Amino acid sequence: MDYTEAKQRIGQLRDVLRENSRRYYVDNAPTMSDQDYDFLMHELEALEAQYPELLTPDSPTQRVGSDIDAPAGTNAEVNVRNDFAKVPHRYPMLSLGNTYNIAEIEEFAARAEKTLDTAFTYSCELKFDGTAICLTYRNGRLLRALTRGDGVVGDDVTENVRHISAIPGRLSGSGYPEEFEIRGEILMPYASFERLNAEREEIGEQPFANPRNAASGSLKLLDPEEVGRRGLTCTLYHIPSGSVDFPTHDDALRAAASWGLPVSPERRICHDIGEIEAYISHWDTARKQLPFATDGIVIKINEMASQRALGYTAKSPRWAVAYKYKAEQALTPVLGIDYQVGRTGAVTPVANLEPVQLSGTVVRRATLNNADWMTQLDIRIGDYVYVEKGGEIIPKITGVDLSKRAPDAPRPAFPTHCPDCGAPLVRPEGEARWFCSNPDGCPTQIKGKLVHFLSRKAMNVLAGDATVDQMYELNLVRTPADFYDLRLGQLLMLDGWKEKSATRFLESLGASRQVPFERVLYAIGIRHVGEQTAKDIARHFGSMDRVAEATKEQLLDIPEVGEVIADSVYGYFQEERHRAEIRRLAEAGLRMAVETDGDAGSDALAGKTIVISGNFSISREEMKALVERHGGRNSGSVSGKTDFLLAGEKPGPEKLKKAASLGVPVIDEAAFMAMLPADDQVVPPSASDMQLSLF
Ligand code: NAD
Repeated sequence: MDYTEAKQRIGQLRDVLRENSRRYYVDNAPTMSDQDYDFLMHELEALEAQYPELLTPDSPTQRVGSDIDAPAGTNAEVNVRNDFAKVPHRYPMLSLGNTYNIAEIEEFAARAEKTLDTAFTYSCELKFDGTAICLTYRNGRLLRALTRGDGVVGDDVTENVRHISAIPGRLSGSGYPEEFEIRGEILMPYASFERLNAEREEIGEQPFANPRNAASGSLKLLDPEEVGRRGLTCTLYHIPSGSVDFPTHDDALRAAASWGLPVSPERRICHDIGEIEAYISHWDTARKQLPFATDGIVIKINEMASQRALGYTAKSPRWAVAYKYKAEQALTPVLGIDYQVGRTGAVTPVANLEPVQLSGTVVRRATLNNADWMTQLDIRIGDYVYVEKGGEIIPKITGVDLSKRAPDAPRPAFPTHCPDCGAPLVRPEGEARWFCSNPDGCPTQIKGKLVHFLSRKAMNVLAGDATVDQMYELNLVRTPADFYDLRLGQLLMLDGWKEKSATRFLESLGASRQVPFERVLYAIGIRHVGEQTAKDIARHFGSMDRVAEATKEQLLDIPEVGEVIADSVYGYFQEERHRAEIRRLAEAGLRMAVETDGDAGSDALAGKTIVISGNFSISREEMKALVERHGGRNSGSVSGKTDFLLAGEKPGPEKLKKAASLGVPVIDEAAFMAMLPADDQVVPPSASDMQLSLF
């Protein structure tokens, strides 16, 4: 390639890499496989090495991919913050040189042997496929957690990280330095990932492409407690050498483990390339049994003095390299594309494939996500496509083999009308997906909403999807309120239903009248309102009427509610048909307010966000339950939206400091109890009671 051609190709490669880097780091929704991205990066590196005069400091080869400055709404995660404090890293957080080729690992080892004049060993570790985190501990307590950001400046996600149980807030053991940094990876185990994606689909959100993107999206959430519920875990693998002095990297990690920090037990010290290769080949298969994603092996020079001697490039250390496993791929033709309509009306293209073996299973279908993704892939019917298992579980199409394309292969046209009901499709601003514009007339959407309404986490009525299908076909139900008008005789029209099954269904429906308001709010199926969000909104407003009357600003007063959810809830109640449906459900006897009678508590704390700290005369769990029973909401961290800090004995000094700096009132147990109805006050033992009990 001559100079002019190289210059043109370099420009092209930089554009493609920058765009895909943005999709990967900022949107958390990549459309290219990692392997293709890495190959393009390696091609760019080779061209820049050949023509050094074309190398510029802003080239993607010289910079760490940045996840900061995500514009609102572009992220696959809807309820994210984009106003995290930007904090400079004390030591830059770099990337790693990587290769898919064992010969390059041999070259890395040969180079190290040639350069280093003292004996050294290698620390071989798993390459965890999550999102990088930098933790600072001071006096044994977690002080700060920063994302990698652009490598120089990271987002301060401390409050969110405090809710990840794998990361200790306090160190154990002894001998830790007064202050030090430790880095690692936040991971989402497959089990948490599958659960999260199922929940997202249920409330109409785009599922995450893989556990890595899910972990990094979760870290940026608005609600620290939701971060806690996401089931994230963490593994730590690096203490910067300026931070603590140990002779070897392995010594540093052993010390970290003794302080209670999560360090991977799968590390091995290797002495030569033979041992490294054995480690690589062992984990090539063994890693498939791990509960979380790994995408390779990291090989590090173990001795700190040798690490210092080798130093860094602008983007990565010279003392470490990653060997990446090639994703298991299969090549198979696309037989056709189906367009599936979901409960929320989102239309998802799904490719039907010639069945093919992949990682021990037969793959017949693969998601194409959305219209943009199809355009990006430029897929045609009959094309041979590469299928990969993203995070080893969900098959996805990562590329097209253009050399096998038939000249007349038809380009699929994304439908303009709903494949189910024929109504025009619409694409709301900021959405990657098209939606059917006929939510009240589209059978799939109607049935999906009915099934959701009856589901276990919603109204918990015993009925399968097939029953709902039949009720729909027989014109017995169109909206959830219709269920409550059903009579025994009508139910006997259903295939195979006898008096016993019909009675059981009606009893189950009757019992659903006792389902708490927060679940009713979830059951009505407002887009983006999952179980927890429904709980937050229910507790804040206390009743359906108040939710229906809430302005967008009032909805945004709930700390866990961001723009997308506020818009969705507000928009829902602006529609008369929704209000009419709610009126019918209320007439059917469903609970439309947080219970206030008897043991069920009161609304004395409705709308209040409370942080609890210290010890009380009852356990903290009981105290939290008390808050919730009276309509309040517990939060783990003090913020501008906290109504008060309820401080017992020995409250956390950080929380007190934060409350003081934000002007959040601090009240004690007695003052708190005085806010509750007399029956529910727990009287702390007074000094005189204590004396009495002493004698
Ligand atoms: P990387 O993920 O390839 O490797 C570096 C990272 O590995 C470190 O920052 C660290 O977070 C992590 N890591 C995991 N285990 C480790 C261990 N034991 N020791 C040290 N580090 C460990 O590099 P990157 O800079 O985070 O991301 C670049 C990569 O991201 C690319 O190589 C590509 O695979 C992928 N990417 C993909 C797309 C796409 O469109 N698919 C776009 C951009 C980037």
